[in-house]
Amino acid sequence: MQAARMAPSVGRQLQRLGVGSSRPRALVWQPPPGPARRPYASGAAQAVLEKSNSSSPEASTREKQAKAESKSFAVGMFKGQLTTDQVFPYPSVLNEEQTQFLKELVGPVSRFFEEVNDPAKNDMMEKVEETTMQGLKELGAFGLQVPSELGGVGLCNTQYARLVEIVGTHDLGVGITLGAHQSIGFKGILLFGTKAQKEKYLPKLASGETIAAFCLTEPSSGSDAASIRTSAVPSPCGKYYTLNGSKIWIRQSSPAPRLCLFSTSSQFQAPLLCPPHPDCPSFFHSNGGLADVFTVFAKTPVTDAATGAVKEKITAFVVERSFGGVTHGPPEKKMGIKASNTAEVYFDGVRVPSENVLGKVGGGFKVAMHILNNGRFGMAAALAGTMRGIIAKAVDHAANRTQFGEKIHNFGLIQEKLARMAMLQYVTESMAYMVSANMDQGATDFQIEAAISKIFGSEAAWKVTDECIQIMGGMGFMKEPGVERVLRDLRIFRIFEGTNDILRLFVALQGCMDKGKELSGLGSALKNPFGNAGLLLGEAGKQLRRRAGLGSGLSLSAVIHQELNRSGELTVKALEQFAAVVEAKLIKHKKGIVNEQFVLQRLADSAIDLYAMVVVLSRASRSLSEGHPTAQHEKMLCDSWCIEAAARVRENMAALQSDPQQQELFRNFKSISTALVERGGMVTSNPLGF
Ligand SMILES: Cc1cc2nc3c(=O)[nH]c(=O)nc-3n(C[C@H](O)[C@H](O)[C@H](O)COP(=O)(O)OP(=O)(O)OC[C@H]3O[C@@H](n4cnc5c(N)ncnc54)[C@H](O)[C@@H]3O)c2cc1C
Repeated sequence: MQAARMAPSVGRQLQRLGVGSSRPRALVWQPPPGPARRPYASGAAQAVLEKSNSSSPEASTREKQAKAESKSFAVGMFKGQLTTDQVFPYPSVLNEEQTQFLKELVGPVSRFFEEVNDPAKNDMMEKVEETTMQGLKELGAFGLQVPSELGGVGLCNTQYARLVEIVGTHDLGVGITLGAHQSIGFKGILLFGTKAQKEKYLPKLASGETIAAFCLTEPSSGSDAASIRTSAVPSPCGKYYTLNGSKIWIRQSSPAPRLCLFSTSSQFQAPLLCPPHPDCPSFFHSNGGLADVFTVFAKTPVTDAATGAVKEKITAFVVERSFGGVTHGPPEKKMGIKASNTAEVYFDGVRVPSENVLGKVGGGFKVAMHILNNGRFGMAAALAGTMRGIIAKAVDHAANRTQFGEKIHNFGLIQEKLARMAMLQYVTESMAYMVSANMDQGATDFQIEAAISKIFGSEAAWKVTDECIQIMGGMGFMKEPGVERVLRDLRIFRIFEGTNDILRLFVALQGCMDKGKELSGLGSALKNPFGNAGLLLGEAGKQLRRRAGLGSGLSLSAVIHQELNRSGELTVKALEQFAAVVEAKLIKHKKGIVNEQFVLQRLADSAIDLYAMVVVLSRASRSLSEGHPTAQHEKMLCDSWCIEAAARVRENMAALQSDPQQQELFRNFKSISTALVERGGMVTSNPLGF
């Protein structure tokens, strides 16, 4: 069967996209299992597991299958399943002690940003003020997740999310300085470091005495991270590697002379202005000009034990500036996050001791993806904070500005904007803390959800800030209120740590890959109908029900608050429509789905909408069940989100499923774009003809 061959191919495509799967482990603390985690709901899969009789061989096979099944809601939704374990009830993972500790941190960190840090000054100076850097170091902000025995604050992901939310509320430039250091810069040492590496590097990194940077991107390799050219050649004695940047560097888009630290012979010379040349290894990196410790990814020769063949594979290294041969360019001039340092970093003949390999030799791609997957919830948390701050500014203006004899918040158009802004913030925040909690609970399958949270958060924050400027009218365009700075700062969040376009492909392809595996299972079941009767009967039943328009029989009513039943039904219906289209598209395109980007984008958009519906249903259900003072307001946010999101999914899926105009549209997009590229810009001339 074609479907049977699809999964590995999709996997390879994902690798090329730089978003291979990873299975992270919980970092710091896992809550004890027990009633506290499931106050009003029980996951269906859990119930099946609990009911199963583990003594019989069939039961043990079923148990193994159930265990192998992903607990990820996002993975399940591509298969038309409601996998509720990770999403219901909305997780509360902090114990009393952790909550208390976090409360003690929130006050001082908030005050620090309100009273000491000056975001406008940082932006103007294009660097974080020294008093802020010093103060942050004293607060422990450079080592939030480093274990306390190694000098850090020892926070779990949820606690970390709460603190980065405060940073995001006040200053994204500072946020990137801190994030590039700990969310990606030295995260690899935390996740993959040996005991010796951790003891050597983490104490100084946690105190901020040394600063870290993450070096993956190269001039010719951005989204296609697997194609890096930097090399690390092992010495004959095996004691060190020699690290050099890419040998071939052709920067098509910027032929202008630029500051360079290398001659064409790769011999070190004083800085000079020269055009890009093959021996000029350079990358853009946050903290590139400040860092003392770099997580660097380079190609290394790896011998296959079985065949003896030598292949180039990516390996991760911890590189110290003090090793020699590490230099950087001047700080880049940027549109936003100006306070953060972004600089090109050059590695020229750097001798890296073999004990500084991070993870396995040849396992660097996995290390890189693991680090990025692990950090994405932090971006969503920070941006939820940004939106909270921006919404307060918009509300303040709307409540005080009078036009046409009325406060402008009384006008419907302003009300709709404010309501939508609140919904976007609520969804982002709910996603951020859902993902961080899942990670703290030891979930291993959260990559699709983490990617969704990054996509959603970065787009929501952009929209919210843009609308804030609109509500503020001309005042919003001025520097003084500080909203234009936030808009500039926000733009990069849709680009770095995986562009949102690439992450959309990841979301859709990863989901399809899992569904594809199920379809391939169906293929073998057809060859052996008696051995796999259960699978075939289940599938036949589903297909018959779908054809009869009867729905799948799925329901969220057991896990959501009854006041949200209508939104739950909308979500289930949308999920069924989505899953039916995923299946139809996989059957139609088979492994060719990887090239159907118009389809994949629409699947990803609906996947994002669906996950958003489920996280707000979960959070609002918890608030209603526990009688939170804001429960009814949350119900409105949740219901409003679900009404619109379900309609979007319905329209998108209906169009993908059967609309012939959609096919015409895709053909047109392709042809228009091709014509533009051939023409070098707009094909049409001015209507005046000259
Ligand atoms: C301020 C700043 C800080 C940064 N900090 C760091 C850092 O600390 N460490 C680090 O390693 N990197 C860093 N980067 C690099 C950043 O991660 C990359 O810019 C990003 O990954 C995108 O790569 P690229 O710029 O080469 O764009 P490209 O990969 O060339 O992409 C260009 C466009 O093509 C799209 N595209 C690419 N491939 C496909 C495809 N297969 N299908 C559809 N669309 C596609 C992309 O989505 C994008 O829209 C930083 C960049 C900036 C601007």
